[in-house]
Amino acid sequence: MPARFAVQERMHLNRSTSNSYNQALSTLLYWEDPVSWREAQTGLSYLLHRHRDRGGELFTMAAFIAGLIRSMDAAMENLCARTCPPCSNPCCARADVRYDFRDLIFLHCSGTGLPLGQTVSVSGGGACTMLGADGCTLPRVMRPFMCTWYLCPPQMDIVRADPEISFLPDWLKDVKHRRKALEAGFLEMISP
Ligand code: SF4
Ligand code: SF4
Repeated sequence: MPARFAVQERMHLNRSTSNSYNQALSTLLYWEDPVSWREAQTGLSYLLHRHRDRGGELFTMAAFIAGLIRSMDAAMENLCARTCPPCSNPCCARADVRYDFRDLIFLHCSGTGLPLGQTVSVSGGGACTMLGADGCTLPRVMRPFMCTWYLCPPQMDIVRADPEISFLPDWLKDVKHRRKALEAGFLEMISP
């Protein structure tokens, strides 16, 4: 089953939720055009508002995840400074990275801010839309998690050899598990 339909299957959206929100959060999962992106954000805002009396734990979980990501930022930036400037094939200029459903739940629950659009245009290909002249224009906590999760081979070599940053893979796995729990909590919250 394609991932986007698998998510639709798992969401079990409340039947009273409007059809347009259902569609925005399921069949157009990658939200590459501005309209579907805005509809997805509106749908998530609506659902969180509708269930706000049950959302406190999710907001706490998301704030903790945001703190973990921020606490890794210095080490990640240091790693990038040691590997990215001389890189002959920068991943941000070719990566097919998109915000996924879990990213959007995290962004909405953590209140870290919402990007103006998806990282890839509807036509696809080319550099990430968030890439600026001096690198990524977004704070790490607002990027798709894949951008933090992915350590390229030269970076992994450094992580393995440098005890100062060897903690990164374990921290990344921790964030990954917490994001999964956040998504599960959100789906549970909106289930009828
Ligand atoms: S993360 Fe790795 S692949 Fe991406 S730009 Fe830096 S060195 Fe290159
Ligand atoms: S969001 Fe930032 S880090 Fe991620 S691919 Fe785009 S430019 Fe690179």
